[in-house]
Amino acid sequence: MIRQASTVYNKWTNNEIFYYFDKNFPLKKRDLVEKALSILEEVTCARFKQNSTSKNRIRVFQGNGEQELSLGQGCHSIGTIQHEFLHAIGIWHEHMRSDRDDYLTVDLSDVSPSKQYNFDKLNERVSQNFIDFDYASVMHYPPAVFTTNNTVSMYTISREFQFTIGMKQLAFSDIYKINQFLNCTGIEFYLIDCPIVSVARIKVFPNL
Ligand SMILES: [Zn+2]
Repeated sequence: MIRQASTVYNKWTNNEIFYYFDKNFPLKKRDLVEKALSILEEVTCARFKQNSTSKNRIRVFQGNGEQELSLGQGCHSIGTIQHEFLHAIGIWHEHMRSDRDDYLTVDLSDVSPSKQYNFDKLNERVSQNFIDFDYASVMHYPPAVFTTNNTVSMYTISREFQFTIGMKQLAFSDIYKINQFLNCTGIEFYLIDCPIVSVARIKVFPNL
C-alpha cells in the first residue's frame, strides 16, 4: 500500500484499527508488533485492537503479495511495523509527497521500470500534507532503495540529511501527522501518568 495522508480512503471508525495475526505469523514476533503498536497508542489517538471477526480488519502475516499487512521475513523492527500500520491508517510515503522535489532529487536510472511507481508523486487531490516535509519520517524510504546495484535513487537536496532518510524510527512529524489526520484534538494523549520526576544532578568540576 502506498499512501501519505490519504484523502481518498475511508478512515477507521472511532480511530479503532482492528487487526489479527495470521496463523503463519511467528509467535515470537507478535510481541514486537504489540510493542510497536503500544508506542503508537502512547503518542496518538489511534487504538489498535486484536479482532479477527470485525467487518474491517487487517490480517498480519509473513510474506509478500496481497494488499494486506505483510511483514517481510527477517526485517522486522519497531519502525518497519509502525510504517506498515501507518499505511493501514491512511498515511502515504514521505518521499511521494506532492512537494518532495523541493527536498529530493530522484534518480531512476538504476531502478527497473517495474519498480519506478514507488517513486510516483501524489498530487494534493489524493494526499494532504499536514506538516512540512521531514527527512526523518518513518514513512521515508532509504537512499538506495529499489536500485539494481545498490546505487542511490534518492539524493537529499540538503546534503547533510542523506543518511537520515530511511531511519525507520517514528519522528515527531509522523506523530503530528497521524493526530491531525485522525482529528485527535487536545493534549490528553501526551499526559502520561508518571508521578515520579526524574532528575539528573550534574556536578561541575572547575577547570583547574
Ligand atoms: Zn511503505
